[in-house]
Amino acid sequence: MVQSYDVAVVGAGPAGSTVAKVVAGEGYRTIVFDRRSTVGIPVQCGELIPSPSEAHSLFPRSKRMPRAVHVPSKFVTNRTQTIRLISPNGSAYEFPFEANIVDRGKYDQYLAHLAEDAGAEFHLSSTVKKSSVRNELNVKTSHTEITTRAKLVVGADGANSVVAQSLGNHFIHNEEDLSPSLQYVMSGADLDESVVDMYFGGKIAPGGYAWVIPKGDGLVNVGFGMRRSIAHDDTPLRKYLKRFAFKTLASSLKDAKILRRVGAIIPVGGPLKKSWSENVLLVGDAAGHVMASNGGGIPTALCGGEIAGDVITDHLNTGVALSEYEVLWKREFGKELDTALSVLRVADTVMPSDEITDICMRLAGVRFLEPLIRCRLPLPVDVASKTMVKILNQFI
Ligand SMILES: Cc1cc2nc3c(=O)[nH]c(=O)nc-3n(C[C@H](O)[C@H](O)[C@H](O)COP(=O)(O)OP(=O)(O)OC[C@H]3O[C@@H](n4cnc5c(N)ncnc54)[C@H](O)[C@@H]3O)c2cc1C
Repeated sequence: MVQSYDVAVVGAGPAGSTVAKVVAGEGYRTIVFDRRSTVGIPVQCGELIPSPSEAHSLFPRSKRMPRAVHVPSKFVTNRTQTIRLISPNGSAYEFPFEANIVDRGKYDQYLAHLAEDAGAEFHLSSTVKKSSVRNELNVKTSHTEITTRAKLVVGADGANSVVAQSLGNHFIHNEEDLSPSLQYVMSGADLDESVVDMYFGGKIAPGGYAWVIPKGDGLVNVGFGMRRSIAHDDTPLRKYLKRFAFKTLASSLKDAKILRRVGAIIPVGGPLKKSWSENVLLVGDAAGHVMASNGGGIPTALCGGEIAGDVITDHLNTGVALSEYEVLWKREFGKELDTALSVLRVADTVMPSDEITDICMRLAGVRFLEPLIRCRLPLPVDVASKTMVKILNQFI
């Protein structure tokens, strides 16, 4: 028997649970599928969420963002005050940046409970294999295969979204813009827990960066993301991470132990050209809503999820067009995502050479590096690119 719902959400991450909470809260029959057996587990994240005031500074045009990123204090394990950027030769550039480091597993479960309390049905260990143009989802559970039909489908199923793929080629991330990432969760670290470190350099993380995010009580997320298209080598990711953790960070991690290893893909190619179709919306990573320059996607997943939920209820209540979703998320955070992508493209021209990265970071200094991390270009993109080319020409 085919079961019918108003809305089927694929993926119970921050984006999917937020959509489900809004839509179910308006009384619409909502089902959420996730392939995991426990929401949020395993955690595949650095767990850093900018504080509401930083979120306002990152996305100044967004009215929703500061509220969307508010995390109840019981899920916050540490609060950091500073970001420190470290160039390949070890020079450090630091500036104030407030962030909450969260227990992402518990936080995702909390978001799912809010949606469940609002009336959404959650089906875990349920992998959506296919989504048809008639909005029929083929779902494989641990013991059977079922078909579910919904008036609207929400693709909140991450970088390799099955829902997005079902819409066709325009909805698939460019392979080169998928950044594989690997992280250790470690205990026994000896470091300043108010500082988040970001390391740059071809030997550390080609086409990406490595991070050190203190979770509090000596726990730390040590990870990195890279792009093979920039790396031009086949060295396994685990070798890069091992070298980073036990050589680069040898002094602060000498007594540390690896508790867990996690890996996942971050889509850093910017938003997909289109995030909606006749009866489907894409949210969060599935829509490419990630700040390309730093890989952060939780704020935009939460904010975009809320916008998608509102547009879906308006659509079901009064026939508002689904295209309104794209208008609204662009208004709230589209420009910043575009700028973050420009920052990454400019960085791509520089970062293949450690020597040039060092020089550029020194010339830029904190004054110019800080806005880059905040998804702002201190110079218009063409001027920034020309400046980089001038610097490159001096050294090639
Ligand atoms: C290593 C790493 C570190 C990161 N660190 C940070 C950070 O510190 N701060 C930050 O802001 N962002 C970070 N990100 C990015 C952030 O995790 C994502 O942007 C965010 O989780 C996006 O939320 P989402 O709901 O769109 O997707 P997800 O949280 O990825 O949720 C997608 C869900 O869909 C489910 N799913 C996928 N396919 C199917 C299917 N076919 N059927 C059923 N279910 C399916 C998955 O099981 C998953 O639960 C990091 C990412 C990685 C990989």
